[in-house]
Amino acid sequence: MTKRVFNFFAGPATLPLPVLEKAKEEFLDFAGMGMSVLEISHRTKEWDKVMTDANNLTRELMGIPGDYKVLWLGGGASTQFYMTPLNLQLPSKPMEYVNTGGWSTKAIKEVKHFGEVKVVASSEEEKFSYIPNNVAFSEDIAFAHITSNNTLYGTEWSYLPSVSDDVPLVCDMSSNILVRPINVEDYGVIYAGAQKNLGPAGVTMVIVREDLLNRVPEQAPTMQKWKTHAEKGSMFNTPPVFPIYMCKLSLEYLKEIGGVKAMEKMNVEKAKILYNVIDTSDGFYKGHARADSRSLMNVTFTMSSPELEQKCVDEGTTRGMIGLKGHRSVGGMRASIYNAMPLEGVKKLAVFLREFQEKNE
Ligand SMILES: *Cc1c(COP(=O)(O)O)cnc(C)c1O
Repeated sequence: MTKRVFNFFAGPATLPLPVLEKAKEEFLDFAGMGMSVLEISHRTKEWDKVMTDANNLTRELMGIPGDYKVLWLGGGASTQFYMTPLNLQLPSKPMEYVNTGGWSTKAIKEVKHFGEVKVVASSEEEKFSYIPNNVAFSEDIAFAHITSNNTLYGTEWSYLPSVSDDVPLVCDMSSNILVRPINVEDYGVIYAGAQKNLGPAGVTMVIVREDLLNRVPEQAPTMQKWKTHAEKGSMFNTPPVFPIYMCKLSLEYLKEIGGVKAMEKMNVEKAKILYNVIDTSDGFYKGHARADSRSLMNVTFTMSSPELEQKCVDEGTTRGMIGLKGHRSVGGMRASIYNAMPLEGVKKLAVFLREFQEKNE
């Protein structure tokens, strides 16, 4: 049997084994064509079906209303940091952001090329350990932007900020898309790099309300307009075929195991197990995120010294649990337990952490 570890990396991240197996099985001969999916033209009917299935599955699983488009774009979520203000800017209207971590900070940095950016709330002074309470955006702004899950710091929004009716809320959902049911209509735009909960790196999903496609200045570069990709069903140019194909397989799998609601149940259970280890460790493990802001996906914690943390990372690796080192900007440890992380992996980690505490207290 193939050796498989439990992979707690933050992204690219673990994928469901049945999805990898299916990709392997179909690799040399896709849809009876005698070629791999990497080798076929994106203008074939076989490719068209992959694209249609990926779109329909996304719509079905997320409950996306008819007046929203689903786009599959290259360039990573980071490209959306500037495509968002480029596509949504309005003359002399500011764009408002909440700064809840490293990715928000990077997103904010890109806005100034397109107009005035205002940061309405930030948790930077507390090392991004919480989501600010009662956030309300101004009226009369081009759009409002949040990052729903903060991958580096392990915090997650548990409420929707207040936004006036005519202001689109934009959300970077890169690390918690399809993790729990959401109401798409609460948002004007959702974007997410695939490599955490959806598939491999190389494609970013953008869900955008149709009326917002027409704001983009005419003279903007063709490839940078969401509208271009919306009009051509994400096939204006060659789409990232392999990542999209892998996302399709993973969406099929998600549907098979009961969809987003079933996934939420598992995610809640998994997170509870690890936070319980932290909370019952008498301070041996210190959670980074404030309890009311904890992420279901990225569990961040520190120990009394970097040496002890390194020892824990190393012992975890020896026991087949890899990727537990925290992001360099936070330090400590991080267990990323995305959709594809099995409950079994989380249970094994919890047992290990308890044993590690006993031996090193
Ligand atoms: C990983 C991540 C990104 C960056 O994604 P790329 O595809 O590498 O550009 C942006 N935002 C969040 C919240 C992330 O977790």
